[in-house]
Amino acid sequence: MREVEYESLGVPLADYQLTRNDHQQQEQAEDIARWVKKVLAEKEAEERADPVLAEGRRRASKRALDMLLKHKTPEHEIMRWRVRLYCGHIVETQRHRENGKPTLHGSSSERCPECGREPSVIVAFEPIGLAGGLSTVSRTGPTVAPKKLTRAQLERRVAALEKENQRLRDSGHTG
Ligand SMILES: [Zn+2]
Repeated sequence: MREVEYESLGVPLADYQLTRNDHQQQEQAEDIARWVKKVLAEKEAEERADPVLAEGRRRASKRALDMLLKHKTPEHEIMRWRVRLYCGHIVETQRHRENGKPTLHGSSSERCPECGREPSVIVAFEPIGLAGGLSTVSRTGPTVAPKKLTRAQLERRVAALEKENQRLRDSGHTG
């Protein structure tokens, strides 16, 4: 596996002051969230009017979910980060270890587990360490069960998959 240099931004997290760019990013993230909500509402209206379509979509979603559950990222490939969110809360999050920053690949905001704000953009961050690396679990103890994806992570992945699905459909048969 290739070497990754993990970056920090805005440390110490506790003293971080929001910048104009942070406010813009948060606004953008909220715009996108509103748009997604609107699209989902339209989709639901469509499905109410068309049970066959609804059933097809339900099956596609289930397939996507099954796929996700099978392709769980092994713990040694997970990097833990301490991030400061727009709302001011400092929380822990996880990313694949190949990401040098926790804000790559469209994951620059998340739902704050402290106050529930969603989206709340990541304004500062620092690496903690690999998920498996710092463990002090005794070697003689029972096998540690692999960590399950959190509901939020799962929902995010499903949303991304659905978006991709939609994109493929849109580009595949227009008209
Ligand atoms: Zn918060």
